[in-house]
Amino acid sequence: MSADPRGYYRILGVTTRASQEQIKQAFRSLAKALHPDLNRGQDTTAAFQAVNEAYSVLSDPAQRAAYDQTGSPEPAPQARSANAGAPPMSQPVYEVEPYTCVDCGCVSPRLRHIKYTQVVSYLVGSYKSNIWGVFCEACASKRLTKASLITGAFGWMSVPGLFYSAHALGRNLTGGQQENLINLEICTRQAVYYLMRGERSNARIAATDARAFAGGVNEGWWNDNEKRRARELIPIIEKVMSQV
Ligand SMILES: [Zn+2]
Repeated sequence: MSADPRGYYRILGVTTRASQEQIKQAFRSLAKALHPDLNRGQDTTAAFQAVNEAYSVLSDPAQRAAYDQTGSPEPAPQARSANAGAPPMSQPVYEVEPYTCVDCGCVSPRLRHIKYTQVVSYLVGSYKSNIWGVFCEACASKRLTKASLITGAFGWMSVPGLFYSAHALGRNLTGGQQENLINLEICTRQAVYYLMRGERSNARIAATDARAFAGGVNEGWWNDNEKRRARELIPIIEKVMSQV
């Protein structure tokens, strides 16, 4: 009999003598590589299922031992009775890396990609800077307050500054410029991350926001690529909603 009849080790890219830790690491990097965000326009579902199946067997010592001996993950009858009373085998989980706040590093269901403008004026001109990143609510409001204070205090001291400041203040006060698709990506990923961790209320918060960002998908200001990506994400959001 082949040492790897169903190709589980080959699928994960490890040897039949790999440690549990090596198997886990191989699974993690494959799960990341097959993530839909990195594979736009390609269907990686089948590949992911194969990886998931291989991992579900090899990550469980009893199933792995049975597979190594018989080529099937089913424990032999005597092994099964020896395991009676053991806790049920854990299900493999699709591990999703959450987005984190660039300022404080926290993981939150309410992270947003925010772009805002800050204007500092000199006697003969003004300097306008665009700042963007993924922020939690607290850090976003600190950033926006600071930008608006700097702009409010120094932005009006020259004629170009006068023009830029009015525009920048208006944008900052409405929450900066938020790009819906980027925020849809962020909220969807946070929703899946929290669902996988069993944190349903956080999953619901993120999925509800994701739904709102996806709401305008049929409007003219979404281009075709954006619409396609949004339509890939919407079923994921609905799936999360149905489980929270
Ligand atoms: Zn933060």
